[in-house]
Amino acid sequence: MEFIAETIADLSPSLTLSITSQAKQMREEGIDVCNLGAGEPDFDTPQYIKSAAIDALQDGQTKYTAVAGLLALRKGLSKKLREENQLDYEHNEIVVNCGAKHSCFNAIMACCDAGDEVIIPAPYWTSYPEMVRAVGAEPVFVETKQENNWKITAQEFDDAMTGSTKMIIINSPNNPTGAVYSREELAAIGEVAASEDILILSDEIYEKLIYGESEHVSIGSISDEIRKLTITINGFSKAYSMTGWRLGYTAATKEIADAIDTIQSHSTSNPTTFAQYGAIAALTGDQSEITDMVEEYDIRRQYVLGRLNSIANVSTIEPDGAFYFLINIEKTGIKSVNFSEKLLSRMQVATVPGVAFGNDHSIRISYATSLPIIKEGLDRLEEFCKAH
Ligand code: PMP
Ligand code: GLU
Repeated sequence: MEFIAETIADLSPSLTLSITSQAKQMREEGIDVCNLGAGEPDFDTPQYIKSAAIDALQDGQTKYTAVAGLLALRKGLSKKLREENQLDYEHNEIVVNCGAKHSCFNAIMACCDAGDEVIIPAPYWTSYPEMVRAVGAEPVFVETKQENNWKITAQEFDDAMTGSTKMIIINSPNNPTGAVYSREELAAIGEVAASEDILILSDEIYEKLIYGESEHVSIGSISDEIRKLTITINGFSKAYSMTGWRLGYTAATKEIADAIDTIQSHSTSNPTTFAQYGAIAALTGDQSEITDMVEEYDIRRQYVLGRLNSIANVSTIEPDGAFYFLINIEKTGIKSVNFSEKLLSRMQVATVPGVAFGNDHSIRISYATSLPIIKEGLDRLEEFCKAH
């Protein structure tokens, strides 16, 4: 008797999460581990956000809200999307979910049937293929090129399309590459999607973490035709250091938003009520702490870039967003899992093997940790690379 459903039996657990918890456990055991694995901001949630949630609890905001979230929060998100992203969504086209991971999952479940194909540019965030498989649909990977900053071109997208293509996933700024798509690149991708009515899942969770001259563009803002095909996903985890609060959101046409609402009404119901009050404060409060965090990430980013460029046998490209570096380790001749495991056991540096992102010739490091830890981690990586 097979107890586990066929669609679920072959899924792998999230490597990004398991490495993070392994590194945290090593640290608790007193091992001097440099955790460059975690895709989680090291800053605390700003105090004004925490205070708003505490006040909400004290005021008795301890009951269910509407499945899609508090009206005030959805109105705030509608305003945010209009003003910051040039996206027109009414509050009833927005559903607040339990983290952006949940948003992605709901969106895929709402739109994809068994047999549908979902185009995923590789390297990709580790959870997309498993979410697609979990609903019985099929991930179709398109290998992107390092020379093109790991971005899928409109032509590559067009070439990968078949009669079964239902959706493409675009993640800009990107995890794990840090790549940021320009307006022109997104417009070209949007045009291909529009030519065959392909849905675009646009995961914009890292939108605020952007450096230098780069600009974040929401693909749905390019034209109304593209907006109607786009499910815009965002959340509070990365920008406001609120990973543990579990708050993300989807914005889409009313038809898709209603389907997501229905799924949510039978699964999680609303995201935690008092956490939603924290989210309202995050949206409406002083954003200067976010700017300070981004400045700090940028200092680390530049430091890591300088160091990686001088380490033998590894190479990278300058990431324009998020807080990761994808490091090419091909020259060492070691595959990614082996590389990451040895780095952890011999040098006590936690990284994520690229295989988790569909690229076995790389490892990912995160700079969402303090400069001293980054420096120590890179010293150890350098020593390890010298020996290999
Ligand atoms: N999308 C990407 C690309 C991510 O890296 C993450 C990180 N966890 C998420 C979505 C999910 O974020 P959340 O913590 O809000 O679920
Ligand atoms: N997104 C982060 C990462 O890629 C957090 C872990 C996860 O949710 O996958 O490491």
